[in-house]
Amino acid sequence: MADDTYGTFRDELIDSGLVIDAGVEGLYGRTLAYEQIIAGIISLTTRTGAGDGAMTVHFPPVIPRWLLERTDYLKSFPDLTGSVHTFRGDDKLHARLLTLVEEGRDWVEVLEPADVVLRPAACHPVYPLCTDGPLPADGRRFEVQGWCFRHEPSPDPARMMAFRMHEFVYVGDPEGADAHRDVWVQRGTDMLESLGLDIEVVVANDPFFGRVGKMMAANQREEALKLEFVTPITSTQSPTAISSVNRHQDHFGLTFGIRSASGAVAHSACFAVGVDRTALALLHRHGLDPTAWPEEVRARLWP
Ligand code: ATP
Ligand code: ZN
Repeated sequence: MADDTYGTFRDELIDSGLVIDAGVEGLYGRTLAYEQIIAGIISLTTRTGAGDGAMTVHFPPVIPRWLLERTDYLKSFPDLTGSVHTFRGDDKLHARLLTLVEEGRDWVEVLEPADVVLRPAACHPVYPLCTDGPLPADGRRFEVQGWCFRHEPSPDPARMMAFRMHEFVYVGDPEGADAHRDVWVQRGTDMLESLGLDIEVVVANDPFFGRVGKMMAANQREEALKLEFVTPITSTQSPTAISSVNRHQDHFGLTFGIRSASGAVAHSACFAVGVDRTALALLHRHGLDPTAWPEEVRARLWP
């Protein structure tokens, strides 16, 4: 496929019956054929990390409000945040709600925030699991996977509001976190290349918000704390990040009060596969009919 505009690839995905326009920009339904690709990527990622003794955990796509506050997400990415609001009024307020809806006016004003918010990254719920005393000498490892939300509506089919992320997380000492990053840079590259994708690993930064955010992004690049695995999806000139490796230094250790075996503040690192983006990269690379993909790619996804 030559260089593509967002719209063309998006239309092709929808016309092929793989994904469904779910009504607002950045929100998609998925059909069985698409979900089978997702299942294949998740299974391959699990097999790739299977030797490390990670604890596999699953969490819902909503997290406690206090957890979002503790991760500093509101400081760094307020513009991507998704909050949950519920109705807790009486009959009178209910009547007002229905009137507002009927008149096509803003009805959210009668709602109140719930104790939960939408999860922006798969790994956030694992850090509170590490707070009871110093970590073992070789740290702790988690495999965690599931739906994430980021409010970044876009015509780019690879920039969704709801998408799946599959992560391998390390929490322990600085050397262990560096080793986790180094191992996964290689493993991640091998894994994605084994699917026939052209992968480049590049230094990147998170989309930190505002003026202070610019400095945080510059610092993150300078210290190469974030590496992205990029490959063409909608453009060969500006390829898309389908996975990343993030070195958090002592950020989560500090905010959650996690101690490594030595008693020092713990460091952490994670490898995150953007599962939906990887599916789109495969569809871009091998075509919209997965039954016609190269046999070796099919064997990796569905052994
Ligand atoms: P980007 O720079 O493209 O916004 P990011 O740096 O915010 O991505 P990470 O926080 O590293 O992304 O998330 C891990 C992975 O999750 C990314 O490499 C990507 O594959 C996937 N991902 C992130 N945001 C989205 C999105 N809006 N839609 C689909 N996948 C996403
Ligand atoms: Zn993570």
